[in-house]
Amino acid sequence: MRKTIIAGNWKMNLHHAAAVQLASDIRSGLPSLKENIQVLLCVPALYLDAVSAEASQHPSMATGAQNAAAWKEGAYTGEISSFQLASSGVRYTILGHSERRSLFGEGDDILKTKVDLALEAGLTPVFCCGEPKEVREAGRHEELTGAQLRNALFHLTADQIQNIVIAYEPVWAIGTGLTATAQQAQDMHAFIRRELASRYGEEIASSISILYGGSMKASNAAELLSMPDVDGGLIGGASLVASEFLSIISCA
Ligand code: PEP
Repeated sequence: MRKTIIAGNWKMNLHHAAAVQLASDIRSGLPSLKENIQVLLCVPALYLDAVSAEASQHPSMATGAQNAAAWKEGAYTGEISSFQLASSGVRYTILGHSERRSLFGEGDDILKTKVDLALEAGLTPVFCCGEPKEVREAGRHEELTGAQLRNALFHLTADQIQNIVIAYEPVWAIGTGLTATAQQAQDMHAFIRRELASRYGEEIASSISILYGGSMKASNAAELLSMPDVDGGLIGGASLVASEFLSIISCA
């Protein structure tokens, strides 16, 4: 059975003490969860150690980075490699978030390299895909999202793809308060799963978790998470408030 993953993306928010407090509030508010539910905190790299220490006290919690370098090691000032993350006890990394794509110019080629390095280091990439507003309005959302998947992931072997988590994040819904309707999310998740099935077969496609991201919050999580192909959420703003994030987890 595929995992349900509720992941918080803290982005570049919070000072150290507030970050540790938030992780502690989430940990202490978490009940014991079914084995196939994973709560993931993707936090600023600087806080990974401290937040991992909190996460290690709950069997359903893990930490993730928000990005990883496109190189293994060396003279890349300011970068952090997948191998360094893995050696610090981190298990996941977001790759290809729309903010990385638009603000830092990350395209399919560099993301393909980052995915390969993350897998080689033993991390699980949370690979983000999804279309901006103008592409949705032009009716080309499947075309673009399909290309993002094919270009950065479909070179992977059948064994490798099973270590990938996909996050469908329509760019027009990220941080805007606009959420995809549950049906829009379901349609795109089903499309992504069909694409995976056409490349890797039904059985593998049905084992891969596909998360929805884009203004998910306590008030809309239950409906989104009730959709058959929505296997969790990647949550920005609402993951910064412990009570809100815990409510989303309780919907899962
Ligand atoms: C995100 O940053 O991945 C995200 C989905 O943000 P928000 O929940 O704030 O829209």
